[in-house]
Amino acid sequence: MIDDLPPLREVVARHGLDARKSLGQNFLFDLNLTSRIARAAGPLDNATVVEIGPGPGGLTRALLAGGAAKVIAVERDPRCAAALAEIADRYPGRLTLIEGDALELELAELVRAHGLGGPVRICANLPYNVATALLVKWLEAEPWPSLFDRYVLMFQREVAERIVATPAQRADYGRLGVLCGWRTRARILFDLSPAAFTPPPKVVSSVVELTPNPSPLLCNRLLLSKITQAAFGQRRKMLRQSLKGLDVKSELLLAKAGVAETLRAEEIDVAGFVALSRALEELKGKSGQTAALQED
Ligand code: SAM
Repeated sequence: MIDDLPPLREVVARHGLDARKSLGQNFLFDLNLTSRIARAAGPLDNATVVEIGPGPGGLTRALLAGGAAKVIAVERDPRCAAALAEIADRYPGRLTLIEGDALELELAELVRAHGLGGPVRICANLPYNVATALLVKWLEAEPWPSLFDRYVLMFQREVAERIVATPAQRADYGRLGVLCGWRTRARILFDLSPAAFTPPPKVVSSVVELTPNPSPLLCNRLLLSKITQAAFGQRRKMLRQSLKGLDVKSELLLAKAGVAETLRAEEIDVAGFVALSRALEELKGKSGQTAALQED
């Protein structure tokens, strides 16, 4: 046992926490597994860990037992509050529960309000229905690097493969792989079978570690996003075709970036997309269309 709190199945039964699909609730009851995830986020001494979706608190307990100085847990389901309060009582001053939607919250502000000043990271068994949206929000943060030194996150295996994909894994490589490859070093640490969860999801899950790249290649993230959206939006087409509609001649853009017109999106690595974004910025700048650099 990692602590003297009651088993998670008992906690769930006592607080009536039947899992809700609409909230992406697939709980981990095995504290050996949650400890393995917490160890992957370690060393935790002096660390403030932001956990999204603590649910009944299996991973929360592992993070606290593993030595996290502070866990800031963001949970959308108010039914979980009582179970989490028991954990907070067991670890006085070390667990702060924020009730709310992680998609709506600025995590950096929560850390500034409740963190302890040591290293800060995010560790979570993410709700699958919003997992990708959350990751994109965190990785598009400005300024970069943000204050998180690591992200240790559980995704569906298929999403994990898209996160770590490069042009070598053509079918999985897309906008997510470009964003993750630009701002982080991402790797899959290990898989968990559906049977590890209650209720079991339909697919295998993977724990992914993303370590922020302290100095990613310089480019405007909004333009990078525009380029990858256009390129992967028509991923079977050659770039001279798929990049039409960006307000500049696609042939001119590709020539300026030094990228062959006949290539397809899935053949372009992160450096290639950065070169395209910078070329787009220059061409737009020349024609005075700086409005394109603003948020849509
Ligand atoms: N951490 C627990 C575990 O490992 O057993 C629960 C993980 S479960 C996959 C996802 C959790 O995220 C649920 O507790 C769910 O209520 C919560 N959740 C769902 N959507 C959320 C959101 N938008 N913001 C914060 N929490 C959310």
